[in-house]
Amino acid sequence: MNNINIAIDGPSGAGKSTLAKAFAKKHGFIYVDTGALYRSIGLYAQRCGIDIPSVKAIIARLPEIKLELCFIDGNQSVILNGENVNSYIRTPEISMYASAVSALPEVRSFLLDLQRDIAAKNNVIMDGRDIGTVILPNAQIKIFLSASASARAKRRYDELCEKGIETSYEDVLKDMEIRDRNDSTRETAPAVPAHDAVFIDNSSESVEETVLKIENIAKEKLGYAI
Ligand code: C5P
Repeated sequence: MNNINIAIDGPSGAGKSTLAKAFAKKHGFIYVDTGALYRSIGLYAQRCGIDIPSVKAIIARLPEIKLELCFIDGNQSVILNGENVNSYIRTPEISMYASAVSALPEVRSFLLDLQRDIAAKNNVIMDGRDIGTVILPNAQIKIFLSASASARAKRRYDELCEKGIETSYEDVLKDMEIRDRNDSTRETAPAVPAHDAVFIDNSSESVEETVLKIENIAKEKLGYAI
């Protein structure tokens, strides 16, 4: 493998995307947000009128879906059948759809090549739930990032408020707990740390401090500074 691949897994609200974005910017890596792919399939299911309990129906419709990722100034956009859907995939409703579709093995294999292709061609820092275990098992650096449930819910809540999405802290915490339970107990690609991942709890550390930690881990694993 010629490119450097960094896998960042962990539960929702752990700060994976903030961390990965900061690292990518500093080191000229491409930041790949894989949650956005599951969210886009969730959006498609919702637009098809499929409800969450019958989300399996999306499997038959996967051939209708074309997903592409494009990167402008380091920012990722998901193009769903020709439409940039970034502004529709962050709502609490689509978060629950994403969690539901992501438990389907057919959906996971549908998204596999897209994720691996980008990592094969670029230096990437990729965040998700199964990056170190399934998508990029040969990634040179694997991090499992977490934080206390209250710190994670507070971050998610602030994020949603900033985007003008109305919700309450209690609802965010409740949804997060449901999603974390679904994600970590599902049969296919559960959100668990890879055996060779480094665990980081960032409840009380700044983004800069965690970036520094990853730089040190990278130096140790690669034998040189990035
Ligand atoms: O990371 P984010 O919260 O945007 O992900 C939304 C949902 O997509 C997660 O709750 C999880 O169910 C699913 N997901 C996944 N595997 C990934 C990334 C996200 O199952 N690699």
